[in-house]
Amino acid sequence: MQRDEQIFELINAEKERQVDGIELIASENFVSDQVMEAAGSVLTNKYAEGYPGKRYYGGCEVVDEVENIAIERAKTLFGAAYANVQPHSGSQANTAVFHACLKPGDTILGFDLSHGGHLTHGSPVNFSGKLYRPTFYGVKKDTGYIDYDMLADQAKKEQPKLIIAGASAYSRDIDFAKFREVADSVGAVLLADISHPAGLIAKGILNDPMPHCHIVTTTTHKTLRGPRGGMIMMGENIDNPFGITLKSGKLRKMSGLLDSGVFPGNQGGPLEHIIAAKAIAFGEALTDEFLHYMLQVKHNADAMAKAFVAKDYNLISGGTDNHMMLIDLRNKNITGKDAENALVKADITVNKNMVPFDTESPFVTSGIRVGTAAITTRGLKETDMSYVVDLIDEVLKNYENDTVLEGIAEKVNKLMGGRPLFNV
Ligand code: PLP
Repeated sequence: MQRDEQIFELINAEKERQVDGIELIASENFVSDQVMEAAGSVLTNKYAEGYPGKRYYGGCEVVDEVENIAIERAKTLFGAAYANVQPHSGSQANTAVFHACLKPGDTILGFDLSHGGHLTHGSPVNFSGKLYRPTFYGVKKDTGYIDYDMLADQAKKEQPKLIIAGASAYSRDIDFAKFREVADSVGAVLLADISHPAGLIAKGILNDPMPHCHIVTTTTHKTLRGPRGGMIMMGENIDNPFGITLKSGKLRKMSGLLDSGVFPGNQGGPLEHIIAAKAIAFGEALTDEFLHYMLQVKHNADAMAKAFVAKDYNLISGGTDNHMMLIDLRNKNITGKDAENALVKADITVNKNMVPFDTESPFVTSGIRVGTAAITTRGLKETDMSYVVDLIDEVLKNYENDTVLEGIAEKVNKLMGGRPLFNV
Protein backbone atom coordinates (compact mmCIF):
# COMPACT_ATOMS: atom_id res chain seq x y z
CA MET A 1 0.00 0.00 0.00
CA GLN A 2 1.33 3.44 -0.91
CA ARG A 3 2.09 5.77 1.99
CA ASP A 4 -0.63 8.40 2.24
CA GLU A 5 1.54 11.49 1.83
CA GLN A 6 -1.47 13.75 1.69
CA ILE A 7 -2.39 12.96 5.27
CA PHE A 8 1.18 12.68 6.58
CA GLU A 9 2.03 16.10 5.19
CA LEU A 10 -0.93 17.48 7.12
CA ILE A 11 0.17 15.68 10.28
CA ASN A 12 3.60 17.25 9.87
CA ALA A 13 2.05 20.67 9.37
CA GLU A 14 0.09 20.23 12.59
CA LYS A 15 3.26 19.09 14.38
CA GLU A 16 5.02 22.29 13.26
CA ARG A 17 2.07 24.37 14.42
CA GLN A 18 2.26 22.74 17.84
CA VAL A 19 6.05 23.16 18.09
CA ASP A 20 6.25 26.79 16.97
CA GLY A 21 3.22 28.25 18.72
CA ILE A 22 2.19 29.20 22.24
CA GLU A 23 -0.58 26.78 23.21
CA LEU A 24 -2.92 28.34 25.73
CA ILE A 25 -6.10 26.33 25.20
CA ALA A 26 -6.94 25.33 28.76
CA SER A 27 -8.15 21.85 27.80
CA GLU A 28 -5.05 20.87 25.81
CA ASN A 29 -1.68 19.41 26.66
CA PHE A 30 1.22 17.48 25.09
CA VAL A 31 1.58 13.78 25.92
CA SER A 32 4.90 12.03 26.50
CA ASP A 33 6.61 9.90 23.87
CA GLN A 34 5.56 6.68 25.58
CA VAL A 35 1.90 7.75 25.82
CA MET A 36 2.01 8.60 22.10
CA GLU A 37 3.68 5.27 21.29
CA ALA A 38 1.02 3.27 23.13
CA ALA A 39 -1.77 5.29 21.45
CA GLY A 40 -0.35 4.32 18.06
CA SER A 41 0.30 0.67 18.96
CA VAL A 42 -1.02 -2.69 17.72
CA LEU A 43 -3.60 -2.67 20.49
CA THR A 44 -5.74 -0.63 18.09
CA ASN A 45 -6.38 -3.89 16.22
CA LYS A 46 -8.08 -5.68 19.13
CA TYR A 47 -11.78 -6.04 19.84
CA ALA A 48 -12.48 -6.50 23.55
CA GLU A 49 -16.16 -5.80 24.26
CA GLY A 50 -16.85 -6.40 27.92
CA TYR A 51 -14.48 -6.11 30.86
CA PRO A 52 -11.27 -7.92 31.94
CA GLY A 53 -12.12 -11.60 32.53
CA LYS A 54 -15.62 -11.14 31.01
CA ARG A 55 -15.12 -10.40 27.34
CA TYR A 56 -17.24 -11.17 24.32
CA TYR A 57 -14.15 -11.90 22.15
CA GLY A 58 -11.28 -14.37 22.31
CA GLY A 59 -7.62 -13.40 22.54
CA CYS A 60 -8.10 -10.74 25.22
CA GLU A 61 -5.54 -12.09 27.73
CA VAL A 62 -3.02 -9.34 26.99
CA VAL A 63 -5.43 -6.42 26.85
CA ASP A 64 -7.07 -7.71 30.04
CA GLU A 65 -3.73 -7.20 31.80
CA VAL A 66 -3.32 -3.75 30.30
CA GLU A 67 -6.81 -2.67 31.32
CA ASN A 68 -6.41 -4.05 34.85
CA ILE A 69 -3.18 -2.09 35.26
CA ALA A 70 -4.90 1.09 34.02
CA ILE A 71 -7.76 0.54 36.52
CA GLU A 72 -5.42 -0.10 39.46
CA ARG A 73 -3.24 2.93 38.65
CA ALA A 74 -6.32 5.16 38.31
CA LYS A 75 -7.58 3.98 41.69
CA THR A 76 -4.22 4.64 43.34
CA LEU A 77 -3.86 8.05 41.69
CA PHE A 78 -7.24 9.35 42.83
CA GLY A 79 -7.80 7.26 45.97
CA ALA A 80 -10.79 5.62 44.29
CA ALA A 81 -12.39 2.28 45.08
CA TYR A 82 -13.75 1.82 41.56
CA ALA A 83 -12.60 2.98 38.14
CA ASN A 84 -13.88 2.39 34.63
CA VAL A 85 -11.23 3.44 32.10
CA GLN A 86 -13.21 2.61 28.96
CA PRO A 87 -15.12 5.83 28.15
CA HIS A 88 -13.88 7.14 24.80
CA SER A 89 -14.27 10.72 25.99
CA GLY A 90 -15.39 12.89 28.88
CA SER A 91 -18.79 13.27 27.27
CA GLN A 92 -19.23 9.51 27.05
CA ALA A 93 -18.21 9.12 30.69
CA ASN A 94 -20.95 11.58 31.63
CA THR A 95 -23.47 9.91 29.31
CA ALA A 96 -22.82 6.58 31.01
CA VAL A 97 -23.36 8.09 34.46
CA PHE A 98 -26.65 9.68 33.39
CA HIS A 99 -27.65 6.37 31.89
CA ALA A 100 -26.88 4.54 35.13
CA CYS A 101 -28.57 6.99 37.51
CA LEU A 102 -31.48 8.56 35.66
CA LYS A 103 -34.58 7.92 33.63
CA PRO A 104 -35.37 10.18 30.65
CA GLY A 105 -37.22 13.25 31.89
CA ASP A 106 -35.53 13.25 35.32
CA THR A 107 -34.33 16.61 36.59
CA ILE A 108 -30.62 17.43 36.69
CA LEU A 109 -28.92 20.48 38.20
CA GLY A 110 -25.70 21.62 36.50
CA PHE A 111 -23.41 24.60 36.14
CA ASP A 112 -24.79 27.03 33.56
CA LEU A 113 -22.79 26.67 30.32
CA SER A 114 -22.51 30.44 29.95
CA HIS A 115 -21.09 30.68 33.49
CA GLY A 116 -18.43 28.00 32.95
CA GLY A 117 -20.27 24.66 32.78
CA HIS A 118 -19.96 21.99 30.09
CA LEU A 119 -22.36 21.01 27.31
CA THR A 120 -22.97 17.65 29.00
CA HIS A 121 -24.21 19.36 32.16
CA GLY A 122 -27.64 20.13 30.71
CA SER A 123 -27.17 22.26 27.59
CA PRO A 124 -30.30 22.19 25.37
CA VAL A 125 -28.17 21.28 22.33
CA ASN A 126 -26.71 18.21 24.10
CA PHE A 127 -28.18 14.81 25.06
CA SER A 128 -28.12 15.98 28.69
CA GLY A 129 -30.54 18.81 27.97
CA LYS A 130 -32.66 16.88 25.48
CA LEU A 131 -33.23 13.62 27.35
CA TYR A 132 -33.39 15.06 30.85
CA ARG A 133 -34.90 18.15 32.44
CA PRO A 134 -31.99 20.56 32.96
CA THR A 135 -31.86 23.23 35.64
CA PHE A 136 -28.87 25.38 36.50
CA TYR A 137 -26.83 27.19 39.11
CA GLY A 138 -24.26 29.85 38.24
CA VAL A 139 -21.75 32.32 39.61
CA LYS A 140 -22.37 35.49 41.58
CA LYS A 141 -22.32 38.55 39.35
CA ASP A 142 -20.20 40.63 41.74
CA THR A 143 -17.55 38.01 42.64
CA GLY A 144 -17.49 35.47 39.79
CA TYR A 145 -17.46 32.65 42.40
CA ILE A 146 -20.05 29.83 42.39
CA ASP A 147 -23.21 31.03 44.10
CA TYR A 148 -23.69 28.26 46.68
CA ASP A 149 -26.90 29.90 47.98
CA MET A 150 -28.33 29.76 44.48
CA LEU A 151 -27.24 26.12 44.25
CA ALA A 152 -29.13 25.29 47.46
CA ASP A 153 -32.20 27.30 46.40
CA GLN A 154 -32.29 25.69 42.97
CA ALA A 155 -31.94 22.22 44.48
CA LYS A 156 -34.81 22.87 46.89
CA LYS A 157 -37.01 24.29 44.15
CA GLU A 158 -36.21 21.84 41.34
CA GLN A 159 -35.64 18.61 43.36
CA PRO A 160 -32.98 17.21 40.97
CA LYS A 161 -32.11 13.52 40.89
CA LEU A 162 -28.52 14.40 39.92
CA ILE A 163 -26.34 17.41 40.72
CA ILE A 164 -23.17 18.04 38.74
CA ALA A 165 -20.22 19.83 40.33
CA GLY A 166 -17.58 20.75 37.79
CA ALA A 167 -16.82 23.09 34.94
CA SER A 168 -14.97 23.85 31.74
CA ALA A 169 -14.25 27.48 32.44
CA TYR A 170 -14.13 28.12 36.18
CA SER A 171 -10.86 29.26 37.69
CA ARG A 172 -11.64 28.67 41.35
CA ASP A 173 -11.53 25.63 43.60
CA ILE A 174 -14.83 23.83 44.19
CA ASP A 175 -16.31 23.16 47.63
CA PHE A 176 -17.39 19.53 47.14
CA ALA A 177 -18.41 19.18 50.81
CA LYS A 178 -20.89 22.03 50.33
CA PHE A 179 -22.21 20.38 47.15
CA ARG A 180 -22.71 17.15 49.09
CA GLU A 181 -24.66 18.95 51.80
CA VAL A 182 -26.99 20.32 49.12
CA ALA A 183 -27.26 16.94 47.36
CA ASP A 184 -28.12 15.21 50.65
CA SER A 185 -30.76 17.84 51.42
CA VAL A 186 -32.75 16.70 48.39
CA GLY A 187 -31.58 13.07 48.10
CA ALA A 188 -29.74 13.71 44.81
CA VAL A 189 -26.78 11.80 43.42
CA LEU A 190 -23.70 14.03 43.34
CA LEU A 191 -21.43 13.79 40.31
CA ALA A 192 -18.10 15.64 40.23
CA ASP A 193 -16.83 16.23 36.71
CA ILE A 194 -13.16 17.03 37.27
CA SER A 195 -12.18 16.92 33.58
CA HIS A 196 -10.22 20.16 33.76
CA PRO A 197 -8.43 20.15 37.13
CA ALA A 198 -7.94 16.34 37.37
CA GLY A 199 -4.13 16.56 37.45
CA LEU A 200 -4.18 19.19 40.19
CA ILE A 201 -6.70 17.16 42.20
CA ALA A 202 -4.68 13.94 41.78
CA LYS A 203 -1.66 15.66 43.33
CA GLY A 204 -3.61 17.18 46.24
CA ILE A 205 -3.32 20.77 45.00
CA LEU A 206 -7.09 21.32 44.88
CA ASN A 207 -10.05 20.02 46.94
CA ASP A 208 -10.59 16.27 46.66
CA PRO A 209 -14.07 15.28 45.41
CA MET A 210 -13.63 11.59 46.25
CA PRO A 211 -14.76 11.71 49.92
CA HIS A 212 -17.83 13.78 49.07
CA CYS A 213 -19.14 12.86 45.64
CA HIS A 214 -20.95 9.66 44.77
CA ILE A 215 -19.40 9.51 41.31
CA VAL A 216 -16.43 11.28 39.73
CA THR A 217 -15.85 11.60 35.99
CA THR A 218 -12.89 13.06 34.17
CA THR A 219 -11.23 13.40 30.82
CA THR A 220 -7.68 12.06 30.69
CA HIS A 221 -6.15 14.56 28.26
CA LYS A 222 -6.26 17.94 29.96
CA THR A 223 -4.18 18.68 33.07
CA LEU A 224 -3.81 14.91 33.53
CA ARG A 225 -1.66 14.88 30.34
CA GLY A 226 -2.82 11.51 29.04
CA PRO A 227 -4.37 10.43 25.75
CA ARG A 228 -7.74 11.82 24.64
CA GLY A 229 -10.35 9.89 26.65
CA GLY A 230 -12.57 9.64 29.70
CA MET A 231 -12.94 7.75 32.98
CA ILE A 232 -15.50 7.13 35.74
CA MET A 233 -14.61 6.61 39.40
CA MET A 234 -16.19 6.15 42.82
CA GLY A 235 -14.62 6.56 46.24
CA GLU A 236 -14.62 4.26 49.27
CA ASN A 237 -17.98 3.70 50.94
CA ILE A 238 -19.84 5.31 48.08
CA ASP A 239 -20.84 2.08 46.43
CA ASN A 240 -24.59 2.29 46.25
CA PRO A 241 -25.43 4.38 49.29
CA PHE A 242 -28.09 6.42 47.59
CA GLY A 243 -31.42 5.16 48.64
CA ILE A 244 -32.60 6.27 45.20
CA THR A 245 -34.93 4.13 43.18
CA LEU A 246 -32.79 2.84 40.40
CA LYS A 247 -34.09 2.58 36.88
CA SER A 248 -34.91 -1.10 37.06
CA GLY A 249 -36.45 -0.70 40.50
CA LYS A 250 -33.92 -3.28 41.70
CA LEU A 251 -31.00 -2.46 43.88
CA ARG A 252 -27.92 -3.36 41.92
CA LYS A 253 -24.42 -2.44 42.78
CA MET A 254 -23.70 1.03 41.50
CA SER A 255 -20.42 -0.09 39.98
CA GLY A 256 -22.32 -2.65 37.90
CA LEU A 257 -24.74 0.04 36.76
CA LEU A 258 -21.89 2.32 35.77
CA ASP A 259 -20.05 -0.46 33.95
CA SER A 260 -23.13 -1.35 31.98
CA GLY A 261 -23.80 2.36 31.43
CA VAL A 262 -20.51 2.42 29.50
CA PHE A 263 -20.77 -0.99 27.84
CA PRO A 264 -23.19 -2.06 26.47
CA GLY A 265 -25.22 1.08 27.31
CA ASN A 266 -23.23 3.67 25.46
CA GLN A 267 -20.21 2.13 23.74
CA GLY A 268 -19.09 -0.99 21.91
CA GLY A 269 -15.48 -2.14 21.86
CA PRO A 270 -13.11 -0.25 24.16
CA LEU A 271 -10.05 1.47 22.67
CA GLU A 272 -7.40 -0.76 24.24
CA HIS A 273 -4.54 1.23 22.65
CA ILE A 274 -5.87 4.33 24.38
CA ILE A 275 -6.40 2.40 27.62
CA ALA A 276 -2.70 1.38 27.44
CA ALA A 277 -1.80 5.04 26.92
CA LYS A 278 -4.04 5.97 29.88
CA ALA A 279 -2.22 3.39 32.03
CA ILE A 280 1.13 4.94 31.11
CA ALA A 281 -0.13 8.48 31.75
CA PHE A 282 -1.50 7.43 35.17
CA GLY A 283 1.90 5.87 35.93
CA GLU A 284 3.56 9.17 35.00
CA ALA A 285 1.05 11.10 37.10
CA LEU A 286 1.92 8.96 40.14
CA THR A 287 5.49 10.31 40.17
CA ASP A 288 6.94 13.26 42.09
CA GLU A 289 7.99 14.71 38.75
CA PHE A 290 4.31 15.09 37.92
CA LEU A 291 3.69 16.82 41.26
CA HIS A 292 6.38 19.36 40.35
CA TYR A 293 4.80 19.77 36.93
CA MET A 294 1.36 20.40 38.40
CA LEU A 295 2.74 22.90 40.92
CA GLN A 296 4.46 24.70 38.04
CA VAL A 297 1.19 24.76 36.07
CA LYS A 298 -0.51 26.45 39.03
CA HIS A 299 2.36 28.89 39.64
CA ASN A 300 2.40 29.80 35.96
CA ALA A 301 -1.38 30.39 35.95
CA ASP A 302 -1.08 32.58 39.02
CA ALA A 303 1.79 34.60 37.51
CA MET A 304 -0.09 34.96 34.23
CA ALA A 305 -3.29 36.07 36.00
CA LYS A 306 -1.35 38.73 37.92
CA ALA A 307 0.31 39.95 34.70
CA PHE A 308 -3.10 40.28 33.02
CA VAL A 309 -4.58 42.14 36.00
CA ALA A 310 -1.58 44.51 35.99
CA LYS A 311 -2.52 45.41 32.41
CA ASP A 312 -6.12 46.12 33.42
CA TYR A 313 -7.62 42.89 32.06
CA ASN A 314 -10.84 41.85 33.76
CA LEU A 315 -10.45 38.27 35.02
CA ILE A 316 -13.66 36.60 36.16
CA SER A 317 -13.32 36.25 39.96
CA GLY A 318 -10.14 38.35 39.79
CA GLY A 319 -7.66 35.48 39.51
CA THR A 320 -7.20 31.73 39.59
CA ASP A 321 -6.75 28.77 41.93
CA ASN A 322 -6.11 26.27 39.15
CA HIS A 323 -4.59 26.10 35.64
CA MET A 324 -6.90 28.52 33.86
CA MET A 325 -8.47 31.93 33.76
CA LEU A 326 -11.46 33.43 32.02
CA ILE A 327 -10.96 36.97 30.71
CA ASP A 328 -13.80 39.40 30.02
CA LEU A 329 -12.56 41.58 27.16
CA ARG A 330 -15.39 44.09 27.14
CA ASN A 331 -13.26 46.87 28.66
CA LYS A 332 -10.70 46.22 25.88
CA ASN A 333 -13.27 46.75 23.12
CA ILE A 334 -12.61 43.47 21.35
CA THR A 335 -14.84 40.39 21.14
CA GLY A 336 -13.68 36.87 22.00
CA LYS A 337 -14.00 35.91 18.34
CA ASP A 338 -11.78 38.74 17.07
CA ALA A 339 -9.27 38.10 19.85
CA GLU A 340 -9.06 34.37 19.05
CA ASN A 341 -8.61 35.05 15.32
CA ALA A 342 -5.92 37.70 15.81
CA LEU A 343 -4.02 35.54 18.31
CA VAL A 344 -4.02 32.61 15.86
CA LYS A 345 -2.35 34.90 13.29
CA ALA A 346 0.37 35.51 15.88
CA ASP A 347 0.72 31.73 16.51
CA ILE A 348 -0.89 31.98 19.94
CA THR A 349 -3.85 29.62 20.44
CA VAL A 350 -6.70 30.34 22.87
CA ASN A 351 -10.44 29.85 22.58
CA LYS A 352 -13.16 32.42 22.62
CA ASN A 353 -15.46 31.82 25.56
CA MET A 354 -18.73 33.12 26.94
CA VAL A 355 -18.29 35.03 30.18
CA PRO A 356 -20.95 35.06 32.91
CA PHE A 357 -23.86 37.34 31.98
CA ASP A 358 -22.44 37.68 28.47
CA THR A 359 -24.12 40.05 26.03
CA GLU A 360 -22.68 38.40 22.91
CA SER A 361 -23.71 35.14 21.21
CA PRO A 362 -21.72 31.89 21.73
CA PHE A 363 -20.25 32.37 18.24
CA VAL A 364 -18.86 35.80 19.11
CA THR A 365 -18.53 35.91 22.93
CA SER A 366 -17.04 38.62 25.12
CA GLY A 367 -14.14 36.62 26.46
CA ILE A 368 -11.27 34.22 26.06
CA ARG A 369 -10.23 31.25 28.17
CA VAL A 370 -6.53 30.76 28.79
CA GLY A 371 -4.70 27.89 30.49
CA THR A 372 -1.12 26.99 31.36
CA ALA A 373 -1.04 23.16 31.27
CA ALA A 374 0.41 22.92 27.74
CA ILE A 375 2.98 25.75 27.93
CA THR A 376 4.22 24.35 31.24
CA THR A 377 4.83 21.00 29.53
CA ARG A 378 6.88 22.99 27.01
CA GLY A 379 9.03 24.26 29.86
CA LEU A 380 7.81 27.84 30.37
CA LYS A 381 8.16 29.18 33.92
CA GLU A 382 6.65 32.00 36.01
CA THR A 383 9.34 34.38 34.68
CA ASP A 384 8.09 33.83 31.10
CA MET A 385 4.47 34.68 31.91
CA SER A 386 4.66 38.46 31.79
CA TYR A 387 6.36 38.23 28.37
CA VAL A 388 3.56 35.96 27.10
CA VAL A 389 0.98 38.44 28.44
CA ASP A 390 2.88 41.31 26.76
CA LEU A 391 2.64 39.44 23.45
CA ILE A 392 -1.09 38.80 23.90
CA ASP A 393 -1.69 42.43 24.84
CA GLU A 394 0.22 43.60 21.75
CA VAL A 395 -1.93 41.32 19.57
CA LEU A 396 -5.21 42.55 21.05
CA LYS A 397 -4.20 46.19 20.67
CA ASN A 398 -3.28 45.60 17.01
CA TYR A 399 -5.80 42.95 16.11
CA GLU A 400 -6.58 44.42 12.70
CA ASN A 401 -2.95 45.03 11.72
CA ASP A 402 -1.60 41.91 9.97
CA THR A 403 1.92 43.31 9.71
CA VAL A 404 2.17 43.75 13.48
CA LEU A 405 0.66 40.29 14.00
CA GLU A 406 3.27 38.73 11.71
CA GLY A 407 6.02 40.43 13.72
CA ILE A 408 4.57 39.02 16.95
CA ALA A 409 4.39 35.53 15.38
CA GLU A 410 8.14 35.74 14.77
CA LYS A 411 8.72 36.53 18.46
CA VAL A 412 6.45 33.62 19.43
CA ASN A 413 8.31 31.21 17.12
CA LYS A 414 11.63 32.39 18.58
CA LEU A 415 10.42 31.74 22.12
CA MET A 416 8.96 28.28 21.39
CA GLY A 417 11.04 26.93 18.50
CA GLY A 418 14.05 26.08 20.63
CA ARG A 419 12.03 24.22 23.25
CA PRO A 420 11.76 20.48 23.05
CA LEU A 421 8.32 19.06 22.38
CA PHE A 422 7.77 15.38 22.93
CA ASN A 423 7.70 13.30 19.76
CA VAL A 424 9.59 15.85 17.70
N1 PLP B 1 -16.64 17.73 31.09
C1 PLP B 1 -15.94 18.88 31.17
C2 PLP B 1 -16.00 19.68 32.42
C3 PLP B 1 -15.15 19.30 30.08
O1 PLP B 1 -14.48 20.44 30.16
C4 PLP B 1 -15.13 18.50 28.92
C5 PLP B 1 -14.33 18.89 27.74
O2 PLP B 1 -14.05 19.98 27.44
C6 PLP B 1 -15.89 17.34 28.88
C7 PLP B 1 -16.64 16.98 29.99
C8 PLP B 1 -16.01 16.50 27.65
O3 PLP B 1 -14.87 15.91 27.26
P1 PLP B 1 -14.71 15.36 25.75
O4 PLP B 1 -14.38 16.55 24.91
O5 PLP B 1 -13.58 14.38 25.89
O6 PLP B 1 -15.98 14.71 25.37
